[in-house]
Amino acid sequence: MYRKGHLGVSLLVFAPVGYWLVTVGEPEAALLTGVVMCWLTMLPDIDHRLPVIDHRGVTHSLLFAALVGGLFGAIGTVLAGLFSVAGMSLGVFGVLLGVLVVGAHLVGDALTPAGVPLLWPLPRSYSLSVTRADNTVANYAFFVSGIAVTGVWVVVAAGLV
Ligand SMILES: [Zn+2]
Repeated sequence: MYRKGHLGVSLLVFAPVGYWLVTVGEPEAALLTGVVMCWLTMLPDIDHRLPVIDHRGVTHSLLFAALVGGLFGAIGTVLAGLFSVAGMSLGVFGVLLGVLVVGAHLVGDALTPAGVPLLWPLPRSYSLSVTRADNTVANYAFFVSGIAVTGVWVVVAAGLV
């Protein structure tokens, strides 16, 4: 999946989380979650820049999601005195945000025939085989769908704030 497709999938994954955060009175946390998920949507593809790591290897696994969740959780724990989110400490919110960032990317790549090695270092790749990564129509369809779904729930949620 290419950047536009990943952005769309990230927005689709973000939609229920963002809507939930708004409904519990946390619109700022919803905005932060959406911005971070879109900003870091390509984070697992950092493996393209690291010559010693295979593409769609460790950075496309649940282990990497846990590592990023742990890093975000640690940052949240350091900042924990500032505020909490929906009754969660900032550390817990950080873990969830980190897992969401990587998880959304993994969903996007799992839609392609090559799939993702969720249980790395086990070699099996998991794929839903919905579309090829280089399918321009599919990438734009996910991009437009993500924006449309986000637009709809933001309008609905705006009535709640
Ligand atoms: Zn990827």
